[in-house]
Amino acid sequence: MSETLRFAVPDEPALGAELHAWVEHLYPLDRSLTGPGVRSTLDWIEEVLAPAEAPAVRRHEVPTGTEVLDWQVPREWHVHQAYIIGPDGKRVVDFAEHNLHLVGYSAPFRGTLRRADLLPHLHSLPDQPDLIPYRTSYYRETWGFCLPHRQLESLPDGEYQVVVDTELLAGHLSYAELLLPGEEPSEILFSAHVCHPSLANDNLSGIAVSVALARHLARQPRRLSYRFVWAPGTIGAITWLAQHREEARRVEGGLVLACLGAGSWHYKRSRRGDALIDRAVAHVLATRCREHQVRDFIPWGYDERQYGSPGFDLAVGQFSGTPHGTFPEYHTSADAPALVRPERLAGAVARLLEVCEVLEGEGRWLNLAPHGEPQLGRRGLYGSLGGAGGRDRELALLWVLNQSDGGHSLLDIAERAGVPFARVRWAAETLAEAGLLRSVDGPS
Ligand code: ZN
Repeated sequence: MSETLRFAVPDEPALGAELHAWVEHLYPLDRSLTGPGVRSTLDWIEEVLAPAEAPAVRRHEVPTGTEVLDWQVPREWHVHQAYIIGPDGKRVVDFAEHNLHLVGYSAPFRGTLRRADLLPHLHSLPDQPDLIPYRTSYYRETWGFCLPHRQLESLPDGEYQVVVDTELLAGHLSYAELLLPGEEPSEILFSAHVCHPSLANDNLSGIAVSVALARHLARQPRRLSYRFVWAPGTIGAITWLAQHREEARRVEGGLVLACLGAGSWHYKRSRRGDALIDRAVAHVLATRCREHQVRDFIPWGYDERQYGSPGFDLAVGQFSGTPHGTFPEYHTSADAPALVRPERLAGAVARLLEVCEVLEGEGRWLNLAPHGEPQLGRRGLYGSLGGAGGRDRELALLWVLNQSDGGHSLLDIAERAGVPFARVRWAAETLAEAGLLRSVDGPS
């Protein structure tokens, strides 16, 4: 028995390289709320997870127009081609070169426009003149192109030929989910959006980390059940909630995963603020990461807003690196695979597995010899734990004996003692083996 992590990633550098290759592979796909780019991404998720000793990933195709909570499933968007030809006959921008060039959900349009009439349809970033911005127009029917500001400024007067060969048609909204059942029906929910086109940190990092996490958890014995949802942002989470009201009741906690490829770790607490998931993430960050930040919930960000709407009130927080909107590459063409660090991707998986270990191992224990300290030396538990950390482990044994009055849980003890959860759990198991402790409500 040891205090090593059960769910530990065996080779973080190798995992980081693998996850980064996934990001590069998924980067060119033209994802949006709906359509072929999302389906190809979900196909890929299915493929990666197929060999794991796990139940299959489930696909859902929800027809356009379906009422979901206060929303409706939108029309499906397909892009055939989209470009602008300048007065000199050359292509100014072309969707085929970068999918950020076209405003997401652009309605079909063909026509010849003068520069002044074209300008209202062009989007650029004057403060970042070399980058292409990411823009969408999901709920207002229009069309537009995005391009570097420097290029926009250099467009000469004259006639521009615009081709937006897209279709908005009755189709489906696609999402995927995977349920990994454990001994108990209580579920931990992990959710990642799949609706961003060529954007690496804000989107692909979350997809890569969640898929790696699912693959790893699928191979472990589990007390809790784990559910993964890969769906387009907002409307996807709303659709999942509308179709999983029963399942939502079993969600004990969860995390929205996004922007995990760069910067120090950030945790945004769930709406409840003090749920077990909030405490577990904060504890792992406090004991493992020198630089990190824990913030309170605000109803802004990713799908924690939907999961944490008052009618559901699921304890779902958001785990990220530098949060969305606060890094300069956010929602621009600079959010490319080079921004995403392999070691951050693997590090995210490792931290999340540690969070799962806390959730798995949490429980209260009872000291069976509570009158005075039991004599640990006689049982080979004191002064014999040699090697580095022997003292720390002895102290962990004393903490667990002292606090295990049936009222304090292992996480309570880990927080109060300021020691990693894995060591406290090791202490509890060691004392239980010596007949000094018994489980009150956790795993025995
Ligand atoms: Zn985004």
